[in-house]
Amino acid sequence: MSRVYNFSAGPAMLPEAVLQRAQAELTDWHGAGGSIMEMSHRGKEFVSVHAEAERDVRDLLGVPETYKVLFLQGGATGQFAAIPMNLLRGKNKADYILTGSWGKKAIGEAKKYCEVNVAASSEGEKFTTIPLFDHWTLNADAAYVHYTPNETIEGVEFHWIPETGEVPLVGDMSSTILSRPVDVSRFGLIYAGAQKNIGPAGVTLVIVREDLIGNVLLMTPGVWDYAQQAKADSMLNTPPTYNLYIAGLVFKWVKEQGGLSVMAERNERKAKKLYAAIDGSGLYRNPVDPSCRSWMNVPFVLADPELDGEFLAGAAQAGLTTLQGHRSVGGMRASIYNAMPESGVDALIDYMAEFEKRKA
Ligand SMILES: *Cc1c(COP(=O)(O)O)cnc(C)c1O
Repeated sequence: MSRVYNFSAGPAMLPEAVLQRAQAELTDWHGAGGSIMEMSHRGKEFVSVHAEAERDVRDLLGVPETYKVLFLQGGATGQFAAIPMNLLRGKNKADYILTGSWGKKAIGEAKKYCEVNVAASSEGEKFTTIPLFDHWTLNADAAYVHYTPNETIEGVEFHWIPETGEVPLVGDMSSTILSRPVDVSRFGLIYAGAQKNIGPAGVTLVIVREDLIGNVLLMTPGVWDYAQQAKADSMLNTPPTYNLYIAGLVFKWVKEQGGLSVMAERNERKAKKLYAAIDGSGLYRNPVDPSCRSWMNVPFVLADPELDGEFLAGAAQAGLTTLQGHRSVGGMRASIYNAMPESGVDALIDYMAEFEKRKA
């Protein structure tokens, strides 16, 4: 059986070269006589894997020296709680920008810890757009402003960074991290679960400005305390060593491809062709405002939902899998992260055209 083009939103495809390297090193890592997953997280082998992963993240994203890079657990969902615990710093209010389902979950969790001001929302537009920045009601007294640069379910992405002045900006980059260059210095904190664009599920990347940490809510568990984790090199408890090793291989792969500007070029090209195919067809439709369509997650519906099942079955037969949209929105969704080759997008476009012709 050959590998399929897997359009899953997450856990998502990994680069084949990374999987092959992991396979080659599985039982004997670099001549050490054992698998990296069998080694102590305190031993020199894993410590070097961890240090290289951090160095590569810093190189790729140009992370300034004044930021900590943490590899934590608990996913982005864990961060929905950890962020207020760490960043309220004696304040009791935070601003949230609501542009989709993940932002909504972040808000639900934050409400346990503070007063949440929803400073802008596109819920009335069914999350198909981003409210104009001029209309945001930001609070100068907020501890931070949280937003979701890419809403994975609705396929809505910011192609700009909000300017929040003195108030630290927090971005949930789970489904867009490493897809293009980003100016980290504009943020107080960036976080991302690994399973979309970084590696296997189980690692959560947190990049946080040093001066914001060390003033947590009293009941904050140690593993959620950024200052404690930074001091312990993210090893306050045993880290998910194998997952981090794979993430490290992905960082090296991205570097070998030419880094984030090359990723951006590829990702933009992949997305543009797919949207052009959708817009140019009579059968498929994407409801998102063209100015904020995601490069990473492309939802689309068929004019007749009765055809969904047949569309999906035919796609699977053509080696194009996991195209079903999220249960909350229905239709289809093609997630086309860094590891989805352009040939996969081309194959999907060909299949869509062929299916439409067959149904005309
Ligand atoms: C997938 C996703 C999450 C949830 O990630 P978990 O690691 O499952 O907690 C949160 N936010 C965004 C934007 C996502 O895409």
